[in-house]
Amino acid sequence: MDRYVYAFTEGGRDMADLLGGKGANLAEMTRMGLPVPPGFTVTTEACRAFLATGTEPDSLAREISDHLTALEEAAGRRLGQPDDPLLLSVRSGARFSMPGMMETILDIGLNDESVLGLAKTSGNERFAWDSYRRLLQMFGSTVMGVDSALFETVMARLKEARGAVDDLGLDTADLAGLVEAYKELIRQETGEYFPQSPAEQLRQAVLAVFESWNGERARLYRRREHIPDDLGTAVNVQTMVFGNLGPESGSGVAFTRDPATGARGVYGDYLPNAQGEDVVAGIRNTVPLDELGRLNPEAFAQLGDHMRTLETHYRDLCDIEFTIERGRLWMLQTRVGKRTAEAAFAIAAELVDEGLITTEEGLARVSGDGLARLMFPRFDTSAVGDALAHGIPASPGAAVGAAVFDSAEAVRRAATGEKVVLVRQETTPDDLPGMVAAQAVLTSRGGKTSHAAVVARGMGKVCVCGAEEIAVDPQERRFTVGGTTVEEGTVVSVDGSEGAVYAGAAPLVDSAVMRYFETGEASAGLVDAVDGAMRQADGVRRLGVRANADTPEDAARARRFGAEGIGLCRTEHMFLGDRRQLVEAMILARTDTERERSLKALLPLQRQDFIGILEAMDGLPVTIRLLDPPLHEFLPDRTELAVRLAAAEAHGSPPSTHDAELLDAVNRMHEENPMLGLRGVRLGLVAPGLVAMQVRAIAEAVVERKRAGGDPRAEIMVPLIDTVEELRLVREEVEQVLAEVSTHSGVPVECPIGTMIELPRAALTAGRIAEEAQFFSFGTNDLTQTTWGFSRDDVEAAFFSTYLDKGIFKVSPFETIDRDGVGRLVQIAVAEGRAARPGLKIGVCGEHGGDPDSVHYFHAVGLDYVSCSPFRVPVARLEAGRAAL
Ligand code: ADP
Ligand code: MG
Ligand code: MG
Repeated sequence: MDRYVYAFTEGGRDMADLLGGKGANLAEMTRMGLPVPPGFTVTTEACRAFLATGTEPDSLAREISDHLTALEEAAGRRLGQPDDPLLLSVRSGARFSMPGMMETILDIGLNDESVLGLAKTSGNERFAWDSYRRLLQMFGSTVMGVDSALFETVMARLKEARGAVDDLGLDTADLAGLVEAYKELIRQETGEYFPQSPAEQLRQAVLAVFESWNGERARLYRRREHIPDDLGTAVNVQTMVFGNLGPESGSGVAFTRDPATGARGVYGDYLPNAQGEDVVAGIRNTVPLDELGRLNPEAFAQLGDHMRTLETHYRDLCDIEFTIERGRLWMLQTRVGKRTAEAAFAIAAELVDEGLITTEEGLARVSGDGLARLMFPRFDTSAVGDALAHGIPASPGAAVGAAVFDSAEAVRRAATGEKVVLVRQETTPDDLPGMVAAQAVLTSRGGKTSHAAVVARGMGKVCVCGAEEIAVDPQERRFTVGGTTVEEGTVVSVDGSEGAVYAGAAPLVDSAVMRYFETGEASAGLVDAVDGAMRQADGVRRLGVRANADTPEDAARARRFGAEGIGLCRTEHMFLGDRRQLVEAMILARTDTERERSLKALLPLQRQDFIGILEAMDGLPVTIRLLDPPLHEFLPDRTELAVRLAAAEAHGSPPSTHDAELLDAVNRMHEENPMLGLRGVRLGLVAPGLVAMQVRAIAEAVVERKRAGGDPRAEIMVPLIDTVEELRLVREEVEQVLAEVSTHSGVPVECPIGTMIELPRAALTAGRIAEEAQFFSFGTNDLTQTTWGFSRDDVEAAFFSTYLDKGIFKVSPFETIDRDGVGRLVQIAVAEGRAARPGLKIGVCGEHGGDPDSVHYFHAVGLDYVSCSPFRVPVARLEAGRAAL
């Protein structure tokens, strides 16, 4: 027989699935002996049953009434008892915290009679009427569906008539009048009377909380946060305690440490003479928690004790909601609190120091995403004051610029060198030029998967989205938030790491964590905490971490950041700039001599590149990928050439023969789909001499480094293999050149020869390919494109946000490896590759190598290393450590 109701004395924190987070923690606190007003929890299962069938499960009413009777007996009064009413709160509380998304109703049990009883027993008439009007307001809007703004209007009018600045300026008679006005409002709006029966109030309130699970706001929130829709919410029914009983009473929220920095000491806000909702609703100004120490030292000391008890018990930062009723402290909620990235590192380190958690637990509680956020420069928040607005931190970093309200304006101003922040309700592909031109993107709607968020992350641009407090008016070219209006051209500062927007140009401070990685010097505080976590991670991780680096500078930085080699050294960029002419000539050459001439010119330049990189990475492996140029990136633009020729003709000047020949050649080589064209190994096989030139440059660089007393460890990697035949041919050529250089120089040159696995066919035939390859490296960017059949550049702005919104993707497959599809190919290739060649070294060098979730996957499938951009190396190290826990 299903059971739908648990008393707080029966539950515990491990029952959050059934009792919701709030209910499970209320039960836990009850069991710990903390002062929690008694109550019971209706399970999420009851909610699911109700939502599925539209009716309450049979036994629910009976169970609720049994638990209510027990509460009443313990309290010695009945719910809504006319001369001395027991009052209840009915509180939503799902498995995952959904702040402000669902409903809570206080003061259930008041009616026209019991309000008088409450006035008498409390000796405080004003309080009784204040509670009743609160019930009418919450019940009227939440259960009966009256627009809550209507209640507020009635209240505002009354305050104005009385000249009252806030609700404390209303007296007993005012509040009694308000009760009448609210009842009338409910009747007018719904055609029904507010139910006077306490039992009926309770029943309807519970069902309303069930229904609030499917409210529009709640559904939107879940979609954004990837919370499943079918969990349902629990309902907590709890004896009321009263923070609105006069100046000796009040409500507050508190943290056991500062959730912004992790600093020790209690933090929070307190509001005297108020019920809890007032604290968050911002109806009156709260005071800092310290003030409670002066107002009520005893309750304050008790609160401190309870917070220490909670922190020791939960072994983590806790946040707390509490109420003081006539000097007596009651705990109304706790949970392990959210925190900034900085606080996460600081708190983990301190808890380890205090012996509350193990070093492994400490490592588990920090994250690579958090670390990445700490590596960006940030605003000096001590110098900027309060944020204008908060939204979702969608793409990290800090940026300052003039607010602009459409894409064209962003482009226009940016062209003059002005820094701009593009502000939109939400963005569409039409906003793309503006996003490119802007320093940051700010939207009032949309979550982490909105167009703005996805595209900004892809571009590495700062983005705060879903800042719902701001009202964007694109017609008037301004936004308003609270009482502030920000006109076009006004400078704002956007903090994409914390999700905050500030007025004016906030001063930037560089990241102490970045400085630590650059210098290796740990000092105190945060940096010390990060240093501890990095050491811990390096101590336990099995995955190696290399970097993708193409220049000696990048290689040196990567090494400072802890890279254990280069997993991908692209040679394409070495062909850009001044050398582009040579490459162009090489690709377009019609005769062998023409081609040889340009290759010969390239050779010494390439050799110098490799010497620099091998020196920066001396003693560590450097995987050099042979040229993989999408042709269109290296050839002149076809249209541009044609236009130039046509223009010359129109002016009557003789067309340049060079241009004419070039256009001819470009036309010949034009590809409809360059990403699937003559690239990678294919180019090496059709352009004789290209591979040999590159390999010679590598081999000669090795010789040179050895002669200089270095320890060069070059590895040669062949890109875009489809079949083992391609690799066999290239390998023969590579070995021949290596042998030649060895003989010629008298210095033995041995470079392992391996291949990228970045096409499905290569993954599927990895067993064959391993016969010719001494190592594999997954190019997961191309492997993702070719497995899914879409090109990143063409799809991200076009339809990814729609796909994410519709739930087709949970996350972009370019950000986090697609385990089911691309991952399956990876696993096949690992298994078959290692079966053919035991101990085959396998890494990954796509951008996924620096993505936390993907790092865990690569650890799990047994790769030897990940390789990522230098700045992501610390993130990969940390996550590789966490993956090994
Ligand atoms: P939320 O999930 O939105 O925080 P809660 O259920 O925590 O909603 O309720 C909001 C506030 O209502 C609480 O912080 C508390 O101050 C007040 N409240 C809830 N239950 C009670 C109660 N039994 N007695 C007094 N105040 C309560
Ligand atoms: Mg709460
Ligand atoms: Mg590739």
